[in-house]
Amino acid sequence: MMMPIYKASKRKASYTIHQHQHDCLVIGAGGAGLRAAVGLAEAKFSVALVSKLFPTRSHTIAAQGGMNASIGSMHDDDWRWHFYDTVKGSDWLGDQDSIQYLTRNAPNCVYELENMGMPFSRTKDGRIYQRSFGGGTIKNGKEIAKRTCAVADRTGHALLHTLYGYSTKFKNVNLFSEFFVLDLLIQDEQIVGALALDMDDSSLHSLTVDGAIANK
Ligand SMILES: Cc1cc2nc3c(=O)[nH]c(=O)nc-3n(C[C@H](O)[C@H](O)[C@H](O)COP(=O)(O)OP(=O)(O)OC[C@H]3O[C@@H](n4cnc5c(N)ncnc54)[C@H](O)[C@@H]3O)c2cc1C
Repeated sequence: MMMPIYKASKRKASYTIHQHQHDCLVIGAGGAGLRAAVGLAEAKFSVALVSKLFPTRSHTIAAQGGMNASIGSMHDDDWRWHFYDTVKGSDWLGDQDSIQYLTRNAPNCVYELENMGMPFSRTKDGRIYQRSFGGGTIKNGKEIAKRTCAVADRTGHALLHTLYGYSTKFKNVNLFSEFFVLDLLIQDEQIVGALALDMDDSSLHSLTVDGAIANK
C-alpha cells in the first residue's frame, strides 16, 4: 500500500492533488527522455512523460554539430577507433564500459533514427554523410576521421522532431507537457514518483509508478 507523501493539510483541505499512476515515469522530454519513453512504450509499459517544456522546445534543439558513429560512409571505420578517441577525449577519466557500450551501439542508434525518419544529410550516392568533428580520428589517432552524422547544422532540432513525432504513435505514452516537477516522491528509500505543477492552471499532480515495478 503506497503512503501518500504529499497531502493537503488535515485542518483544511484547501487544494486537491490529482493522482496518476503508470508503470514508468520519465522526467524530461528532450532527446534522452523521448528515446527512453519510446523504448519503454515498445516494451508495452505505460509511461508518464513529464516535461516543463513542450518536448520540441527542449534544449536538445540547440545541438548543431551531430553525432559520432562508426558507420563508415566516408572511409573504413571501426567502433574501436571511436572508443579510443572517446577514452582519450575524456582524459582517461570516462567509464570505459560505458564508452564501449556507447561506441559499439552508436551505429545502430543512427540507423534506428534514420528508420524513424530523421532526415540525415546525405552523400551524392545516398549514404548518410559524415564529417570531421570533435577530434575524431581513425587508426588510433593516425588520421582525421569523418565520423559525425548530422542534419546540416540542425541535428538536435531534427532529432527532437523525429523522436517526438515517433513517440506519438504509442498510445501508452501519456505526455504531461508544461508540467513542472517540484519534487521526487520517496518511499522506503526508493523513488516512487514525482509531484508536478501543471503550469497552465497551477493544479498539483502526483505521478507515481506501479509499486511492483518500483520495488524491482
Ligand atoms: C549549443 C549546443 C550545441 C550542442 N551540440 C552538440 C552536438 O553537436 N552533438 C552532441 O552530441 N551534443 C551536443 N550538445 C549537447 C546535447 O545537446 C545535450 O547533451 C543533449 O541534448 C541533452 O539531452 P537531454 O534530453 O538530456 O536534455 P534536454 O534536451 O535539455 O531535455 C531536458 C528535459 O527536461 C525537462 N525538464 C527539466 N527540468 C524539469 C522539471 N523540473 N520538470 C519537468 N521537466 C523538466 C525539460 O523540459 C526538457 O524536456 C550541444 C549542446 C548545446 C547547448
